[in-house]
Amino acid sequence: MFEDDQDIKAIRDGIKALCLKFPNEYWREKDRTRTYPVEFVKMLSEHGYLGCLIPEEYGGSGLTLRAAAVILEEIHRSGGNGAACHAQMYIMGTLLRHGSEEQKKRYLPGIAEGKLRLQAFGVTEPSSGTDTLALKTTARKDGDSYIINGQKVWTSRAEHSDLMLLLARTAKREDVEKRTDGLSVFIVDMRDALENGLTIRPIRTMLNHATTEVFFDELCVPQENLIGEEGKGFRYIIDGMNAERILIASECIGDSRWFIKKAVDYANERIVFERQIGKNQGIQFPIAQAHAATEAAALMTEKATLMYEAGKRPGAEANMAKLLASEASWKAAEACLQTHGGYGFAEEYDVERKYRETRLYQIAPISTNLILSYIAEHVLGLPRSY
Ligand SMILES: Cc1cc2nc3c(=O)[nH]c(=O)nc-3n(C[C@H](O)[C@H](O)[C@H](O)COP(=O)(O)OP(=O)(O)OC[C@H]3O[C@@H](n4cnc5c(N)ncnc54)[C@H](O)[C@@H]3O)c2cc1C
Repeated sequence: MFEDDQDIKAIRDGIKALCLKFPNEYWREKDRTRTYPVEFVKMLSEHGYLGCLIPEEYGGSGLTLRAAAVILEEIHRSGGNGAACHAQMYIMGTLLRHGSEEQKKRYLPGIAEGKLRLQAFGVTEPSSGTDTLALKTTARKDGDSYIINGQKVWTSRAEHSDLMLLLARTAKREDVEKRTDGLSVFIVDMRDALENGLTIRPIRTMLNHATTEVFFDELCVPQENLIGEEGKGFRYIIDGMNAERILIASECIGDSRWFIKKAVDYANERIVFERQIGKNQGIQFPIAQAHAATEAAALMTEKATLMYEAGKRPGAEANMAKLLASEASWKAAEACLQTHGGYGFAEEYDVERKYRETRLYQIAPISTNLILSYIAEHVLGLPRSY
């Protein structure tokens, strides 16, 4: 139904070829040692893939969201993981849409060239969790600067980024008319900030994700780093959510297609009771189910992407795409592990690594429950549950 056009096909083929240089052994080693895939991210930057959403006038390739989605899908389909760098794609929109001309000129060319990394996104806090409006990190105006105090958690890639997009409170909750007002977005230059009020502490997790806790203690951020209008930051962040959901759904679809191919190959090869295990419907059906779920999720993702590119606001479609794709990739992960029997647990098959990786998408960047609440309230007209 949605055929790749020539440009998209070229991007798909290009990224596929580059991913071949980073085989499963590479990702396995990074996972085992919990190290950041510096070489992979460098390669993506050098080929312009990380600056793909930056307009040509600022040195980027000015590609569409669909192109970015295809890049991430293919990385995941190859056995790799785009989490090392995907934030640059989905947080870029906040700077592009709401940043001043001066800010775009200051940052975008460097990001496009790969000299400057915009990989960290500081929203989640320990006490607020999903309830973003309850966040407590403050930004206090002081002359020509803002002074930041507070803490973020799960700030991924903070140690591998030069810049962080930070959401902080500039007005008390009780002092704003609209509950969504009072939060502001800043670009924090972490190169200046480290040991000057910014401390980063890594969190070791069940997958290799370079995630951290970040502490702000009287960190001074110049006023010119405020994005857009003070107090309107929550809307700017929400504005970028549809793109984020579409990109994450694409990663899930890539994972799912990796699991399905891996499961089919193994089911065709493995002989038990003197026949291929793939002859058993108990092995076939879960893989077929996962395939059907993946194709359905891919259609919803395509629909959301087309709407996004037509300038519509595909809130429902982007959320449903992310929900369906994360469920499809989990279904595929389960089928793949089961098909591999005991070997699914051995590191060298990569199934257990991808299994751990794809589980994340039902929690982050938004949990399944919160998407279901969104659909219930905003699509079906049911009362708000929280
Ligand atoms: C590896 C990793 C990387 C991450 N990277 C980043 C990052 O770079 N930047 C960033 O800002 N954040 C990041 N996050 C945070 C992530 O977005 C949050 O973990 C996620 O949004 C869930 O928030 P929480 O963990 O505080 O869960 P909570 O908000 O505490 O929720 C816990 C559980 O309760 C459920 N729940 C809560 N409220 C409701 C409700 N009203 N109805 C039904 N169920 C509900 C949730 O669905 C969830 O299952 C990352 C998280 C992880 C694990």
